[in-house]
This record gives sequence, C-alpha cells and structure tokens, in this order.
Amino acid sequence: LSRYRTDFHEIEQIGSGNFSRVFKVLKRLDGCMYAVKHSLKRLHHDTERCKALMEVQALASLGTHENIVGYYSSWFENEQLYIQMELCDRSLSINKPSKLSTEEEVLEAMHQIAKALQFIHEKGIAHLDVKPDNIYIKNGVYKLGDFGCATLLDGSLPIEEGDARYMPQEILNDKYDYLEKVDIFSLGAAIFELVRGLPLPESGPHFLNLRERKLPLLPGHSLPFQNLLKVMMDPDPARRPSAKELLENPIFGRPPRTARSK
Ligand code: ATP
Ligand code: MG
Ligand code: MG
Repeated sequence: LSRYRTDFHEIEQIGSGNFSRVFKVLKRLDGCMYAVKHSLKRLHHDTERCKALMEVQALASLGTHENIVGYYSSWFENEQLYIQMELCDRSLSINKPSKLSTEEEVLEAMHQIAKALQFIHEKGIAHLDVKPDNIYIKNGVYKLGDFGCATLLDGSLPIEEGDARYMPQEILNDKYDYLEKVDIFSLGAAIFELVRGLPLPESGPHFLNLRERKLPLLPGHSLPFQNLLKVMMDPDPARRPSAKELLENPIFGRPPRTARSK
C-alpha cells in the first residue's frame, strides 16, 4: 500500500533536481495543497539513506520560520524518501521573470533570506546551497528551501557543498573555518546574479574575479548596495558579515538611493 497514493492526489510535477522530483499534491484528508519531493533513485544502502535523511533532519530540527519553506512530514516508500513541504509559488531564477527590478525589491529579498540564515545559523546549521533556484517565493514572501546540502556548523558531519558557482574559494579548496560565512558568500553571489541578470560563470577568469573582490559594476545600483555585495563576497570569510551583522546594516533601514544616470 502506498502512503503517497493513499494520502495524496497528485496534481502535477512542479520541478526536478539532480536527485529528486517535486509534485504539487492535494492532501485528501485536509483538502490542502502541498509540495511532495521524492528521491529519483532507490536508496538501497544505509549510507545513502542517512545522507538523504540529513535534509529532513535539518528541516525538522529547525522548526518553523516565515522565511524557510515549511516542513510537514517525511517517510520511506519503495526505498525512496518522500518529503511533504509547504507549496510555494516558484523559485527565483534569472531565467524566470523575477520581479526583482528595483533595488528596493532586491534588498527586501536579501533581508528576508538573511533572516532565514540568522535563524538557521543560530541553531547550528549551515545551508551550503544558497542560490536563486533554492530561494522560493510565496504570496510575496521569500523562503529558503532545499536543505539537501545542510550540515552542522561545528563541522562534525561530512560536507557536501552545493553548486560551485555560488561557493567561496575556501570551501572549494576544502579549507574552511567558518561554515556560516559560506552561506553569506552564496547569498551575495545569488543576489549579484539576480541583479545582473547574467548567469554566474562556472569556471574561468570571470569565476576567479568574483572570488577576488573584482565584481563588475552594477549600473543603476547605489554604491552602498554594491559595497555590501562586495563585502559579502570577500575572499576572507572573517571579513564577511555574519547574518546578524548583515541584518543590522543601515541599508535595510533607509529608502534606497539609486545612482543617478548621466
Ligand atoms: P538540486 O539539484 O537543486 O539540489 P533537488 O533535487 O534538491 O535539486 P529541489 O531544489 O528541492 O530539488 O527542488 C527541485 C525543484 O522543484 C525546485 O527548483 C522548484 O522548482 C521545485 N520545488 C521544490 N520544492 C518546492 C516547493 N516547496 N514549492 C514549490 N516548488 C518547489
Ligand atoms: Mg534545488
Ligand atoms: Mg538539493
């Protein structure tokens, strides 16, 4: 008997990743819509299962936060892990119209995801896969999702970092002290990509430039905003602000000033 088929009515597939498929479903009992993610391949071995379970253990231990995709339950079925989550409208991507057109909107998204990061870092968890695709939006609220790479800040668990385009050099070199600062770099890189509207390079000289404080100018954006992205992406993790420090930045309190075009 399938718990998935018994409890849910599948509406449509809404996404897929490297390891999973995500469906929009109706829960028969409560009449509400959810997102259910399940692993693509069967997890035969305990080691595979443990790795997959990291995602739900992170989600479950965090508890609820407005800026984190809600978690409801999880179970194994046919050696596949099923995760029932809050259904969001979509994730951000430079390929989708993001509506992050003004600096005010960009700062709002950054502020909300910084709140999610402060919350998870305080609970001793690093996300390690912050990128536009893993930032969801629901009724105008931004939510951090996809905890598939999440790990403990104390470094007591093996680390599998996410998308290299958004990763700072220290983690690519396997030499890191502050895992929480990896998420700050990634958030800076994600916002930079969304604002610029160009995909981040996967390798090559531009890839290295972004890791050496050589960010191209963002026309139409204020200097304080551009400097903030620069310090978030500083090659030295100690110089990057913590999520808490980021939230204290006056840029979030004052109306943004956009650079005057000549
Ligand atoms: P990745 O290869 O990025 O690690 P993944 O296999 O971990 O992917 P997710 O990123 O969690 O899978 O989900 C894949 C896609 O499904 C997302 O990019 C998104 O489009 C969609 N999706 C996932 N969760 C939700 C949700 N809660 N609400 C709406 N859409 C979702
Ligand atoms: Mg993802
Ligand atoms: Mg993932």
